[in-house]
Amino acid sequence: SREATAYFGAGPAPLPTAVLEKASQVLLNYNDSGIGITEISHRSGDAAKILEDTKSALAQLLDIPTQEGPNGYQIIFLQGGGSGEFSASVYHMTALWVEKRRQQIVKELGEEDEAKVFEALRKAVDEEFKLDYLVTGSWSLKASQEAARLVGANHVNVAVDSRKANNGKFGTIPSESSWSLTPNPAHSGMVYFCDNETVDGVEFPAFPNIDSDKYQVIADMSSNFLSRKVDVKRYSAIFGGAQKNVGTTGITIAIIKNSLLTQLAKPDLLRKLNLPVGPVVLDWPTIAKNNSLYNTLPIFDVWIAGQVMQSLISKASTSGPKIATQQTESEHKASLLYGILDKYPVFHVVPDKSVRSKMNICFRIGSEDDRDDKEKKFLAGANERLLLGCKGHRSVGGCRISNYNAVSVEKVEKLAKWLEEFAQQQ
Ligand code: PMP
Repeated sequence: SREATAYFGAGPAPLPTAVLEKASQVLLNYNDSGIGITEISHRSGDAAKILEDTKSALAQLLDIPTQEGPNGYQIIFLQGGGSGEFSASVYHMTALWVEKRRQQIVKELGEEDEAKVFEALRKAVDEEFKLDYLVTGSWSLKASQEAARLVGANHVNVAVDSRKANNGKFGTIPSESSWSLTPNPAHSGMVYFCDNETVDGVEFPAFPNIDSDKYQVIADMSSNFLSRKVDVKRYSAIFGGAQKNVGTTGITIAIIKNSLLTQLAKPDLLRKLNLPVGPVVLDWPTIAKNNSLYNTLPIFDVWIAGQVMQSLISKASTSGPKIATQQTESEHKASLLYGILDKYPVFHVVPDKSVRSKMNICFRIGSEDDRDDKEKKFLAGANERLLLGCKGHRSVGGCRISNYNAVSVEKVEKLAKWLEEFAQQQ
C-alpha cells in the first residue's frame, strides 16, 4: 500500500497523499461543474483562478516581491522542463547582454550613425560576449553545454569546474576566490549556477559570493525548490521543473525580474549579429505578457503545484518566512540520515561536508573491492522493507536518497533504521 511504501526517487517524486486524493476527485469533476480538471479550458474562469491562487501561494512562500516596476518579479509557468530553461537562459541572457551593450555604445557614439553603432556592437560581441557558468555537477554541466551549442563555446566561460580540484569528480564547490568570472561585466555579465545538483548531491550552502548588482544571476532550483528560504531579490531569474518538490511533471516554474523583461535585444538585431533567437514558447516576455497562457497550459499541473504550496502554507508558523517551517523539517530529515552515514565507516558520503545536499543524499558503501556487493545487498534489503528508489543515478552509481518535502519524517526514520541495521551487520 501507499502508506507502507516509502519512496526516495529523485524525480518524479512523491506527492502528499492528501493532494493526490483530492486530485483523483477533481480529475472527474472540478468544482462540481461536471467536467474534470484536465478537460476544462485553460482560458476559463476556473483556470484563471487556479493560476492566480498558485502564484499568490508561491509569492507568499518565498517572499517574492511581485510589485510592478523594474524591481518586481513575474511568476510564470512554462513547458519544456528544466532543460527547456537551460536554453531559455541562454536566449535571454544573450539578448540582455546585447541590448545593454548596445545602449552603452549609443551613449558613447550617439544614435545618429546606425551603421557605426552596429559595427561597434558586432565587434563587442566578437571580443567581449561571455556567459559565465559555475559547473558544480551534472546539471550545470549540461546547462553550460547547451550554452556552447547555442552561442558557441567561445562565448561560454566556465568560471569554475569543480571536478578540476577533485580528481575529476564532482563533490566540492571551490571557494569563490578561485572562480574566474568574466571581469568588468558592468554592462551585463551573467552568472549561471545550479543551486542543488540532483545527481551529485552538491548544494550551495547559501547564495554564492557574487555581486548581484553587477552580474545577472540565474539559478536552476529544480531539485531544491521550496525546501529553503531564497533571497529572490539577488536573482534575475530562478527556475525549476515542478516534478520533484512542487508537483507533477509537465510544468516548469520561473521567477523573472521585471527589469530583465524590458531590456532584451530585438530578434532582428540578434539575427543580424548571428546570435540565436529562441522559440516563442520559451520566450519569457511573451509568456509573462499572456499570464502563462500564450498556448495551452496544463492547468492540472498548476493546480497540483498550488495544492502542494497551500499545504506548506498551512503548516507554516505564523511568524517569519512561510517556507521556514519546511526548511527546518528538511534539515532535520537530512541530518538524521547524514548522522548515521557519518557514524559508520562502511558508508562514504560522496560530496564534501560543506556542500552536502539536504535534498539528494549520495553515498557509497564499502571499499572499491566490495562496493558492488555491499550496495546490491543494501538496496535489496531496502526494497524488501519497501524503502524504494535508493539507487544512485546511472552515471555515478552508488546510492542516493532523495529527501523531498513529501517524504515524511516517519519514512525517513524507517530508512535510517535500515541504514543502521545494515551497518551493524557489516
Ligand atoms: N536541473 C536539475 C537540477 C535537475 O535535477 C533536472 C532533472 N532531474 C533538470 C534540470 C532537468 O529537468 P527536466 O527533466 O525537467 O528537463
